[in-house]
Amino acid sequence: MKKILIIGAGFTGATIARTLAEAGYSVEIVDKRDHVAGNAYDYKCSGNGLRMHKYGPHIFHTNNEKVYKFINRFCELDNYRHKVKAEFNGEYFTLPPNKDLKKRFTTDEILDIFFKPYTKKMWNISWDKLSSSVKNRLKFRDDDSDEYFTDKYQGMPKEGYTKLVENMLNHENITLFLNSNIKNDCMGKHRIMWEYDHVFSAMPIDEFYNNRFSALEWRSVKFREVHYAEAPVEGVFVINNTTVLGATRTAYYTELSSNNSWWDKFIRGDRITWRASAIAEYPCDADMNNGERYYPVKDPDGYNTERYKKYVEYAKGDENVTHVGRCGKYTYIDMDQAINQGLQTAIKYIEKDKE
Ligand SMILES: Cc1cc2nc3c(=O)[nH]c(=O)nc-3n(C[C@H](O)[C@H](O)[C@H](O)COP(=O)(O)OP(=O)(O)OC[C@H]3O[C@@H](n4cnc5c(N)ncnc54)[C@H](O)[C@@H]3O)c2cc1C
Repeated sequence: MKKILIIGAGFTGATIARTLAEAGYSVEIVDKRDHVAGNAYDYKCSGNGLRMHKYGPHIFHTNNEKVYKFINRFCELDNYRHKVKAEFNGEYFTLPPNKDLKKRFTTDEILDIFFKPYTKKMWNISWDKLSSSVKNRLKFRDDDSDEYFTDKYQGMPKEGYTKLVENMLNHENITLFLNSNIKNDCMGKHRIMWEYDHVFSAMPIDEFYNNRFSALEWRSVKFREVHYAEAPVEGVFVINNTTVLGATRTAYYTELSSNNSWWDKFIRGDRITWRASAIAEYPCDADMNNGERYYPVKDPDGYNTERYKKYVEYAKGDENVTHVGRCGKYTYIDMDQAINQGLQTAIKYIEKDKE
């Protein structure tokens, strides 16, 4: 039986692990954290039992039939539809801007109020430095819907993302090791190669090669758990802040449909004072947040893109290592893209192995 090592038990690693395990490979999967599910990890708040997302609000949405079919093997999705509002002068406005918002504000006002301060806080980059390709990707809606996504399939796993990934890894050919930080200086890239037939690495590609072309830059987010008497808008999970300072957004976990049973039991019974548990987000550079990498920086001068290319070129020398996922490929991907890429990578490997 061929032996495979997967570094990182997020959606990318877990999808590859499951697909290879079902094809008869022996898979070991490691993660430096004490939990699976990568940045989609969720947990129950100790104060009130609400399910919260530790690394920012995660909403599953996809148009990809294969991904939808795959995820349904390991969880049941509820019918949650994501809504985002932005607070401005005490009023709450729907994002992405829809017909109603466009009636209230001109396009320039929409940019000045809802996009420019957010961009500055999120990316630490001024609006005029953003590339036109990024600006062109800003979402606007032509209807008066207040839903954030338009994807065919949307929802939250009823038992959470952590349980979903645990279910994916629950297979006799998969062994999971948590609290296992793969570093060049402890396990060593060369030792990894000798012990396994192939390595799929979702750890940062620069860290894997000991930053030999220097570290790639990432934006990060600091999270602060806060508790309010009630959420500002009933049924709205995420509220953006339009001011130049402070949090970019706050996620109110009482407003998730998957937490509704909790709401009914405790809130309506008025038995606790922490009614609306929320997490506020404060973006910063990754080196100001223990190297927690969330989003590749916006790269107007192409500095990081050039360095990433050097890593890709260097990695071609490692035939039995495939760099995958958000950090392995220095790119932002949603969960459905992580699953899709994981499926494609594993299938490609299996087919090549048969040749
Ligand atoms: C703030 C935020 C909000 C998001 N919101 C959404 C959303 O609403 N909807 C959506 O679809 N997607 C969302 N995403 C994206 C989602 O988290 C990604 O799809 C997912 O991170 C990609 O999965 P991955 O497995 O490639 O990476 P990760 O989930 O980052 O998993 C990589 C794993 O590798 C481990 N690792 C790293 N280095 C090492 C090492 N040296 N040794 C061992 N293990 C290591 C990490 O601990 C981590 O668990 C969001 C991401 C962020 C950052």
